[in-house]
Amino acid sequence: MRIRTARGWWTAIALAGAAATLTGAKLSPRPVDDLRIKRGQEDTADWLTAGGGRDEQHYSPLDDINDMNVAMLAPAWSADFDTNRGQEAEPLVVDGVMYVSTAWSKVYAFDAVTGAKKWQYDPQVPGEWGPKGCCDVVNRGVAFYKGLVFVGTFDGRLIAIDANTGKPRWSVDTIVDRTRNYTSTGQPRVFRDRVVIGNGGAEYPTRGYVTAYDAATGKKAWRFWLVPGEPGKPDGEVSDEILDRLARKTWSGEWWKGGGGGNAWDALVYDPSYNRLYIGGGNGAPHSHYKRSAGKGDNLFLGSIVAVDADTGKYAWHYQETPNDSWDYTSVQPIVVAEIKVDGRMRKVILHAPKNGFFYVIDRETGKPIAANKFVPEPNWASHIDKATWRPVEKPGARYIDKPFISRPGPPGAHGFQPMAYSPKTGLVYLPTSTNSWLYRPNVQSDTHAGLDLKNLGGMPVPENYLQALDPLTGKQAWRIDVKGYRTEAGGGGVLATGGNLVFAGRGEITGDFLAIDARNGKILWQMKTPNMIMAAPITYRIGGVQYVAVVAGAGGPSPLWGSSERPRERQNGSVYVFKLGGTAKLPPMPPFAGPVAPPPGPFAAAEVAVGKEIYDRTCGRCHGRPIERSSNVLPDLRRSGWIHDAAAFKAVVLDGALTQLGMISFADRINPAQAESLRAYLGSEAQKLAEQQKAGKPER
Ligand code: CA
Repeated sequence: MRIRTARGWWTAIALAGAAATLTGAKLSPRPVDDLRIKRGQEDTADWLTAGGGRDEQHYSPLDDINDMNVAMLAPAWSADFDTNRGQEAEPLVVDGVMYVSTAWSKVYAFDAVTGAKKWQYDPQVPGEWGPKGCCDVVNRGVAFYKGLVFVGTFDGRLIAIDANTGKPRWSVDTIVDRTRNYTSTGQPRVFRDRVVIGNGGAEYPTRGYVTAYDAATGKKAWRFWLVPGEPGKPDGEVSDEILDRLARKTWSGEWWKGGGGGNAWDALVYDPSYNRLYIGGGNGAPHSHYKRSAGKGDNLFLGSIVAVDADTGKYAWHYQETPNDSWDYTSVQPIVVAEIKVDGRMRKVILHAPKNGFFYVIDRETGKPIAANKFVPEPNWASHIDKATWRPVEKPGARYIDKPFISRPGPPGAHGFQPMAYSPKTGLVYLPTSTNSWLYRPNVQSDTHAGLDLKNLGGMPVPENYLQALDPLTGKQAWRIDVKGYRTEAGGGGVLATGGNLVFAGRGEITGDFLAIDARNGKILWQMKTPNMIMAAPITYRIGGVQYVAVVAGAGGPSPLWGSSERPRERQNGSVYVFKLGGTAKLPPMPPFAGPVAPPPGPFAAAEVAVGKEIYDRTCGRCHGRPIERSSNVLPDLRRSGWIHDAAAFKAVVLDGALTQLGMISFADRINPAQAESLRAYLGSEAQKLAEQQKAGKPER
């Protein structure tokens, strides 16, 4: 058959590929390159890249599963991971194989139809790197390009894995200073034979940057620093020019000593229309602008979207959503690229909902905003965005210079890492939203950060979390689904919208629900109870004429800070769940409730218990749950720990690092042996309280 057009050729090959799958014949699939990624689900129904396509809309035109038949959705298969930490990854599906990353940056390849494991790769992230991150040892997904799977590891390596064998091809260390708290949790992006990755760490003294490498070899191509470094010490990178010309004069004091921040830990979006990469810049380090930059200047490029040339990294434009950030308002939240009608004509735009509570529509060519409306009822740091300057109009006292300030949103943001979706079919954005608030005090030096008072979270209002559908231009809410009882950041899991008039999203705290919602009116059309909580974004794909929906489950992330309103359960590993119409598989069983506590014998002296409580709240609660009564046991509830029964065993863990490989490092630099014993007394006393409560038949939740 003679094939005249490129489009016809692609169609023919797609059919041949489908036939090869059906007959089991070996046919080498066409490579995943820029053209195939650009075409996305137009010619194969694979999920090739973050967000399902170059525009990262988390939208699929597939409509085999739709509002008329979704009631028949049921599990097709599921597979367990070998880690019980938080799972945030979006899987990819390429030529019949699902590639998915897990906590600790491990990667699995599964047959996307049967769930049979093809291979598993463990980059062996050292356990002691775990506590370097603010928010669990998560990973948000892999990239795929020309036969290679790319994963950014928690300890900052970028690794290319052979997609067929699961064996590493190359590995580079992306971290410039391994004494600092750099971590990579984001999904790498690949375009034009380059792979890019950023890093997190702005809760600590770090300075953020993004690096592009040659996808075939790992050779560094360019690096873009988001904030200027020490004066007189250029980086020798492409960002030097714009930092000197524009950014440096927006900083004051000795900001470089605190790092400055700006870390780009998630949003990196390649736009073939302009051959640019959009980078979401992180928050300031430390949080307080007053402490970081002597209270002066906008501190570029914190809280900004920066567009750079994809080939060279050269600056093109920026828009700063949160000038001189003082509230951990990153602009790292997933960026969506779209074409929408503005005043009667189609415009190429960015849609963005950063932490700060305002929804932005930004012209992709120029970086100029077109709209900026609040997407939570009352962001209290700024009243609105001025339409002449496009700057926020701040409220008095928001900068907590001489008085405490309860910021709304708080540092978790009105929108977190969870991807939103945009449906070109409905014109609506589906946005996981949170109304959390946190206390900032002047001059408080907390365990991680100047300004942020981590000891007083217990008194904060319980956040309202919900999934809402918005008109991106007006900010008008079309519908909203409350995610009741959910206390972690940003209102449920990531979102998928489809051509079948559906929106898929998860929610939960320890266990969860997976929902299919009518994209037009917010009606829940189908839901299934899941044994694990869902934070990650669902995906969809079609193989052999069958559409599948897949989502990763695994409680964790920053949620232990708030604990849970669900009764604690035994710890469970993360999983991927896959659904199809008429599926006959079963999800894994619900994990049992956490058993009765067996406290160590007392009594414990009140004075010692009080000292121990102070140590726990300052040093342990961030991961293990604070206040301790709210521990979810997603990370171990220390009241239930066997290690608290014996002073020597407890010291072996807390001071000597016996559980380092699990991420529980030695705290000998922060806790002395006498303090360790006080901590054990506090945990013992709390365990006794819990045992009495259980004996009296009082429910834990
Ligand atoms: Ca942060």
